[in-house]
Amino acid sequence: MGGRAAVFLDRDGTLHRELERAPRHFAELEFFPCVEPALRALADAGFELVVVTNQSAVASLAVSVGELDALHAQLARRFPIAASYACPHHPERGLPPYVRACACRKPGSGLLERASLERDLDPRRSWIVGDARRDLEAGLALGARAVLVLTGKGERELAGLDREFRARISVARDLGEASAQILAAAAQGR
Ligand SMILES: [Mg+2]
Ligand SMILES: [Zn+2]
Repeated sequence: MGGRAAVFLDRDGTLHRELERAPRHFAELEFFPCVEPALRALADAGFELVVVTNQSAVASLAVSVGELDALHAQLARRFPIAASYACPHHPERGLPPYVRACACRKPGSGLLERASLERDLDPRRSWIVGDARRDLEAGLALGARAVLVLTGKGERELAGLDREFRARISVARDLGEASAQILAAAAQGR
């Protein structure tokens, strides 16, 4: 199958500062300054940009599905992001129908699989960028390459990685540096 190359992006801690409480509105998001140029450069290079995000705040009713959809619609207007896929579930905390085990909550690969099917993407030609090990695991399981950013909880996550896992990923200071790594690899046909 000849799917296109994507960069799958974690949202909180990767695109914007993490908040104490899950954000309900776009205006609450404080994007890192590197995000805009990084996303433009990746999109210009032909990568499909897809946000994949765990949002268990939906399960605990801290954020409604409508609020989340509106926030992600604004994300797509503000940046060259093709789509956002969110897991609203939590295995233990929350209310029906969202409290349940699911395949889409990262480190599960369900969000990336759905995005790949719906948008004709090839995970093996793609990348995942996130500030947590579980983001990277979701991509690695499908054959994508993975970059850990040190924004958000990235520093802490890096400190907790075993050597074996560390060898499977690359590390970048922020999304700007991650995008430079991805573009350099693409330019070399890697
Ligand atoms: Mg994150
Ligand atoms: Zn889920």
